Parts: sequence; C-alpha cells; structure tokens
Amino acid sequence: MKHGKKRRQIWRPRRPSEASEAWVLSAGSLGHPELCQRPCLHVVVGRHCEAGDACNHCHLPHGRGQKMDKRQRRILEEMPKADFLRLALQLLEDKARTMELGGTEVLFGILEGEVHPPGTPAPAGAPSCSLPKGMMRCLRAMGFRNVASLAARKCAEGAKIRIREAMQALRARVSEGQADASYSDSDETC
Ligand SMILES: [Zn+2]
Ligand SMILES: [Zn+2]
Repeated sequence: MKHGKKRRQIWRPRRPSEASEAWVLSAGSLGHPELCQRPCLHVVVGRHCEAGDACNHCHLPHGRGQKMDKRQRRILEEMPKADFLRLALQLLEDKARTMELGGTEVLFGILEGEVHPPGTPAPAGAPSCSLPKGMMRCLRAMGFRNVASLAARKCAEGAKIRIREAMQALRARVSEGQADASYSDSDETC
C-alpha cells in the first residue's frame, strides 16, 4: 500500500474494520465536513466505490440528521425566494463565524444580489420567517455546503453557477488551510 504524505486525521471510521478501507479521501471530500460534496451513496452503505478517490461525492463519514424529509422540503420550496435566501444568509454567516471561514464575500454577495437585485431597495427588518422550530434546528445542524445548495436551488440559473464556483473557491481555500498549519486569515487574494 502506498503512503501519501502524512495528514493529521480529524475523522474516525465508525464502521467495522472490513468497511474501514472505504473511508479514504475522494475528490468530493475536499472541505469536509462543512464544504464537501454530498456523501457517496456507495460508501454510506459500506460498498466499494468504483470511482475511488476520483469520486465527486464525499467518502468521509457524515453524521445523520442533516436531511430534511419530504414535507420539510416542500415547505422550503414554497417559501418565498427572498425570505429563504435571507434566512440562509444568516445561517451561513453564523456558520462561517463559528468555523472561522474566510473568503465568503463572493458567495454572500451573490446571495445578497439575489435577495435584492441592484437598483431595488434592500428589504427592511428581519426575515419574515415562519419556519417550524424543528426545521430551524435541522437547518442549523446542516453543513455549510448543504445550506448553500438549498439556497442555490432558489436562485436563477446564472446565480446557481456562480454559487457553485464560489463554493469551489471556498473548498480550495479550506483545503489549503488544512494543509498549512500556520494558516491564519489573510487577504492575499487582492
Ligand atoms: Zn464530507
Ligand atoms: Zn464514491
């Protein structure tokens, strides 16, 4: 077996040893656990994933309870776009603060632009959000990427693509930060 450069492991396999080999980094694991792609369905059920480390889904273990049921998803779908996006922005800002995630300006800028396009007045006051408590708990428990992709679903096609690009940039940034222990917030992007 080939050894890559040694990384500090921040996750632990929770499955029996025969399946533990499945827990390897995949392309989709970049930014795990908050920014990575959806968990790979093969790995979730303990099966071998043909795509291996090229898989675009995350191969690292994810906790449960981050998924909405059908009824909850319908409530989100029916929620007015601006209301949900303002709520999502708040959640994402909170998460970014907790994670000490920098470089979110592009993503938040896109979402803000979707809430009130340039030339229209910014909505006043707090979002008129009337989500059941359980759903708020669920949204708060969700990963950053999850909330961002729920928000993207409400957005126009162009914004969806820009959100995806902004997420990729964030992942790259986070993975650099993980590789470099002396990483601290910096503004070298300008
Ligand atoms: Zn992951
Ligand atoms: Zn996979």
